[in-house]
Amino acid sequence: MPWKGEKDPYKIWLSEIILQQTRVEQGLHYYKSFINIFPDVHKLARAPGAKVFKLWEGLGYYTRCRNLIASAKYISRELKGKFPDKYEAIKALKGVGPYTASAIASFAYNLPHAVVDGNVFRVLARVFGIDKATDSVKGKKYFTTLAQELLDKKQPDLYNQAIMDFGATVCRPATPLCSGCGFKKHCFAFLNNNVNELPVKGKKIQIKKRWFYYLVLENKNTIAIRQRTGKDIWQGLYEFPLIEAEKETDIRIILKMASRNGWLSKNDKLISVSPIHKQKLSHQLIACQFVQVMLKKKNAADFFRVKRNKLSKYAFPKLVNQYLRR
Ligand code: SF4
Repeated sequence: MPWKGEKDPYKIWLSEIILQQTRVEQGLHYYKSFINIFPDVHKLARAPGAKVFKLWEGLGYYTRCRNLIASAKYISRELKGKFPDKYEAIKALKGVGPYTASAIASFAYNLPHAVVDGNVFRVLARVFGIDKATDSVKGKKYFTTLAQELLDKKQPDLYNQAIMDFGATVCRPATPLCSGCGFKKHCFAFLNNNVNELPVKGKKIQIKKRWFYYLVLENKNTIAIRQRTGKDIWQGLYEFPLIEAEKETDIRIILKMASRNGWLSKNDKLISVSPIHKQKLSHQLIACQFVQVMLKKKNAADFFRVKRNKLSKYAFPKLVNQYLRR
């Protein structure tokens, strides 16, 4: 991976933010594009937000992108481009938590801070037989203290990379390679035959289901869109006029609601209703339908109109892009 052995804090920071909640295979392409277009923090800080969002499009968890932009501006303007080189100052950057701060501090500056990510939780839980929930406050504190005690203070960068790689490639979640593992003579989980029961998670994530009905309002080869501004998922991305419902709703009711909003009038023509598209986020399941309507006049005053062939200039949520591609 291009970020392995990297010492430039900007590149390490970029890779760590991209890899939060994202698989390496998916993040790699984005990392390369970002480094190519924004080779240093000043270039990223000066770029229009819409351009950065467009490059981020498809990665999801868009708060990361907003934080990336805010931190780049802060480092470029307030710190004159010098990336913070102390753990606390790194952790104070927007979107940087203890894990990311430890990764940057150890990889870029060789500072003695242990990383504790999902791989590290798993290795420590199994080798030491720890049954504390990794998502509880107590559990996190326990694992962090142990990881810090175990850290090789002379080579924290090498140690952190090694334990994470070991978790990713040998002590894997579902099919760990125990028979060839160098720890098997000491590993609590292997010796006690409970490898698959560790690590332990306490909380069950509550998934909220939401129904989105997007009105694709066309008029003379233009389509109405708007930018999402509220404190909600996909903030900063673009979308069609949206009606959200608590449950699956008949399209005739959705059309009536759209008329009440002033988006439709009598002579507008319903063209198509898409099948249900679904997207699973960490705490939400979005079910979504697209209702395509040909307008007689340009309604939907709260929205701006974009020519069909210019839609690709805007960053949309994955669900909308799937629909547009079809
Ligand atoms: S023996 Fe198995 S469970 Fe234990 S550290 Fe090695 S791979 Fe992980």
